[in-house]
Amino acid sequence: MKILIINAGSSSQKSCLYNLTSDHLPKYSIKPIWKANIDWTVAKGQGILTVEANGIKKNKILNHKHFCQAIPQILNTLIQGKTRVIKNFLQINIVGHRVVHGGTDYSEATLITPDVKAVIARLIPLAPTHNPSHINGIQAIEQVLGNVPQVAVFDTAFHCHIPLKSAAYPIPYEWLEKGIRRYGFHGISHKYCAEKAAQILNKSLTSLKLITCHLGNGCSLAAIKNGISIDTTMGFTPLEGLMMGTRSGSIDPAILIHLIRQYNFTANQLNTMLNKKSGVQGVSGISADLRSIIQAVNEGNYRAQLAFDMYIHRLRWHLGGMLGSLGGLDTLVFTAGVGENSAIVREKTCEAFEFLGLKLDPKKNNNFSVDTDIATDDSTVRILIIHTEEDWAIAQECWKIFNQRYLSL
Ligand code: ADP
Repeated sequence: MKILIINAGSSSQKSCLYNLTSDHLPKYSIKPIWKANIDWTVAKGQGILTVEANGIKKNKILNHKHFCQAIPQILNTLIQGKTRVIKNFLQINIVGHRVVHGGTDYSEATLITPDVKAVIARLIPLAPTHNPSHINGIQAIEQVLGNVPQVAVFDTAFHCHIPLKSAAYPIPYEWLEKGIRRYGFHGISHKYCAEKAAQILNKSLTSLKLITCHLGNGCSLAAIKNGISIDTTMGFTPLEGLMMGTRSGSIDPAILIHLIRQYNFTANQLNTMLNKKSGVQGVSGISADLRSIIQAVNEGNYRAQLAFDMYIHRLRWHLGGMLGSLGGLDTLVFTAGVGENSAIVREKTCEAFEFLGLKLDPKKNNNFSVDTDIATDDSTVRILIIHTEEDWAIAQECWKIFNQRYLSL
């Protein structure tokens, strides 16, 4: 079975093709047979397409304005040239899209119908950068691949059962009725990591109290009880919560009122400042990449040190909140670029929770590999590094839907 994954973000788009040869869903992730990434950040108005298949890697400059216009060209690399992995498009059985916002409408992955497309379109005001790309991506696939089944896997879905006392903001109730509430994001990653943690620990997910720390360019935590997300740090948008690469995370909302009144800031200026010019980048003035910050810290740079200390402080602070929501903790999971690779971030974060009996093994933390337990044997809390595999998680959802809906007919 061939499953095509489309993961369209704001500055990069990743696609890949999985070939599942067994009748059963493999217990462990498999590698895609074809990968295509577009990076739009290198040159203005141009994308750099990188395709990997058959052991080779090819780069191409795309002169399209948008990912969706490039989809036919990208998909052609599946059936032509040195990266060819299938004879024709008819071999693709199903297509899975990562969709950032599903509102409160979807608690799980769903087959895309005209109604589902209408909901994704209706939610554009809540995800103005992402949901239009998803709609365009779905339509572009329809044009190239015809009526192949397409599945939407929502980043918000895993957080759909967060109790209202956590989801609602303490503002006039009428705004809750208008959809101003916390939705949570990174759900595909948090769910994948929770399931993987149970697999690594050889325990039932329903028996665990977990906190998953997704620390990439965007950062969020999820408190997971009985396999269900009961709290998370991102909210109405992916701006709330932790300090991130370029995003501020939570700040006093009165700062915005002050900037509007005293400095005539516009909505667009505030949006750019909080999403693109804040966080680690904004405080350090050096980079959004924690690797550069840690290097600058070692060189004695004051602002890099401040940015790093704030990143850790805010991470510990929000972890405390998740602990309160869970009322206990069995397993702490680190994932995504920073979580998987930065031993110092894990060390500094865990230090604050030693009073719980949580003990990080320094050797295991420094000589780590992914999908392992780095806690000491006598730690009361297991500490795992898990390599998040969002594309594989989307492929699993597609496999399940395909087998339920199509093979059972
Ligand atoms: P995204 O959120 O875009 O999917 P990733 O999960 O790939 O991002 O994370 C990218 C981030 O991971 C980079 O911005 C970089 O700061 C961070 N990163 C990668 N390796 C390291 C490392 N060894 N130490 C600290 N940060 C790292």
